[in-house]
Amino acid sequence: MDFELTEEQQMIKDTARRFAEKEVAPLVEGAEASRTFPIQLFRRMGKLGLLCIRYPLELGGGGADKVAECILAEELNRICAGIAAGLMVQGGLATNPIYQFGSEGLKQEFLLPAIKGEKIGAFALTEPDVGSDAASIKTRAIKDGDYYVLNGSKTFITNGPICDYALVAATVDPARKAEGVCLFVVEKGTPGFVVTRKLDKVGNWSAETGELLFESCRVPATHLVGGQEGRGFSQILDTLTSGRITYGGRSTGVAQAAYEASLQYAQRRVQFGRPIVEFQITRFKLAEMAMKIDIMRSYTYRVARLYDAGRKVVKEASMVKLFCAETLEEILAQAMQIHGGYGYMMEYPVQRYWRDGRLFTITEGTSEIHHLVIARESGF
Ligand SMILES: Cc1cc2nc3c(=O)[nH]c(=O)nc-3n(C[C@H](O)[C@H](O)[C@H](O)COP(=O)(O)OP(=O)(O)OC[C@H]3O[C@@H](n4cnc5c(N)ncnc54)[C@H](O)[C@@H]3O)c2cc1C
Repeated sequence: MDFELTEEQQMIKDTARRFAEKEVAPLVEGAEASRTFPIQLFRRMGKLGLLCIRYPLELGGGGADKVAECILAEELNRICAGIAAGLMVQGGLATNPIYQFGSEGLKQEFLLPAIKGEKIGAFALTEPDVGSDAASIKTRAIKDGDYYVLNGSKTFITNGPICDYALVAATVDPARKAEGVCLFVVEKGTPGFVVTRKLDKVGNWSAETGELLFESCRVPATHLVGGQEGRGFSQILDTLTSGRITYGGRSTGVAQAAYEASLQYAQRRVQFGRPIVEFQITRFKLAEMAMKIDIMRSYTYRVARLYDAGRKVVKEASMVKLFCAETLEEILAQAMQIHGGYGYMMEYPVQRYWRDGRLFTITEGTSEIHHLVIARESGF
């Protein structure tokens, strides 16, 4: 196994870092304060081929691999997990099902503009009463001639308030559970599709998260992804497998930011006549943070390389998501501790990393669900 990044991956790392520091960092304060996503980033990143980095160049993507996508995720999350969340949805959940399974028509109408950042996408699976048990979704899709009529509601939807279209999971028959689930592309402006609320969150303030309502919403049958009923659940699982690997990069980015902030603080903060970095216990905390981040990063690359090699990585994707999200929690706790009382004050960025990173054991499969997947995939 090659342990080094390829020349291209290294180039993407350098580009992503430069972009995140020069073009994303200046937007963070304003976006966080106003709780709005800086939507100009979609077109800007689309133009650079960074928005949907893994799709082919001929579609406007970056033509890069999964490792590169994780590198980009790390660099963006190192600067701001909220902004990264909106961008990650676009490059993954909101486009991958169309890219992998969508008709030529759906690709032309939604995927290509999404890759360029001209259309913003959202992915709507979760419902007020249905989260982890996704096969039990209640949003109904009933066929009516050349249309499906959607009724139901979705919650916690990243990009929901700003999207131009949403990939919506609905069931044609709740009794069929997973086998009844379908994915539909629903365009904003379709009568009956309403954003009912923008949600106030503990963290990730610059990602806009909302509740969506579908009331007798007529969607052309051609907007059923894959063209056949009952394929949605496996399309979602495929997409989530890829997303879970990206979570390794996302967690590593937030961890890296927390580590850098903690080291800098420990070098400056003087107590008992010495910078606190000179106390052995602080040095040990920082050393452990550095070690854990190195493991998170290498593990993410490893699973991403398996994915790039075309291996089935359902178990490994859950493992990397679970390990990195949980390890991030440990790192953030140490980062807050090193900052003492100042860490609890809003003027230091570590509180943002702590609030933002707290989400990662919950979204795209909670840690508990990933334990279940790993057990199942391990055959027990
Ligand atoms: C900020 C944010 C953004 C999000 N963005 C999106 C998005 O863009 N699109 C989207 O569709 N969803 C999105 N989600 C939803 C997210 O994926 C869900 O919150 C997640 O899947 C968990 O579902 P739940 O919140 O309903 O929790 P529940 O499923 O109700 O779980 C509650 C608790 O019970 C535990 N639990 C549940 N079942 C089991 C079990 N069988 N065994 C053991 N423990 C169990 C869980 O692990 C958890 O600890 C987002 C959520 C947040 C908070």
